[in-house]
Amino acid sequence: MSQSLTGTCLCASIHFTLPPTPPIKTMACYCHDCRKNSGGPYQTNAMYPASSVEISDTRSTLKSYTIHNTSSGSPKEKLFCGECGCMLFTKPGHYKGEMVVVKTGMLDGDGMERLGLQAELFTRDRPGFCRPLEGCKQIETMPGK
Ligand SMILES: [Zn+2]
Ligand SMILES: [Zn+2]
Repeated sequence: MSQSLTGTCLCASIHFTLPPTPPIKTMACYCHDCRKNSGGPYQTNAMYPASSVEISDTRSTLKSYTIHNTSSGSPKEKLFCGECGCMLFTKPGHYKGEMVVVKTGMLDGDGMERLGLQAELFTRDRPGFCRPLEGCKQIETMPGK
């Protein structure tokens, strides 16, 4: 990946640019929080060092909400646009703000496709009408559990 990927929320108040380096990991997640955040079966995520993602909040609409009762056990800050309601990033408390998890559906053009997906998390919560995604490592809950 040589070219930086960019994304916006629906109202385009929030813009972000990913570094040209590959993400630390990419994953689809079927956990309770991801399901509710997406309004569908799962969220697609890419993790980066927080310092490497450039976020521009042009109309100061970026809001945050901390989820305390998470499946991982550490609180998670979700960052979303207060104007159009799009879910953009999470900051898992486990990494003390050093990592940002980008919702890859917010990427422009073929960004989501270019990042791809390496793994599926919380497959035990995957609805019966969804099949495993091709080429994804299947993880029943979280990596290392
Ligand atoms: Zn917005
Ligand atoms: Zn999840």
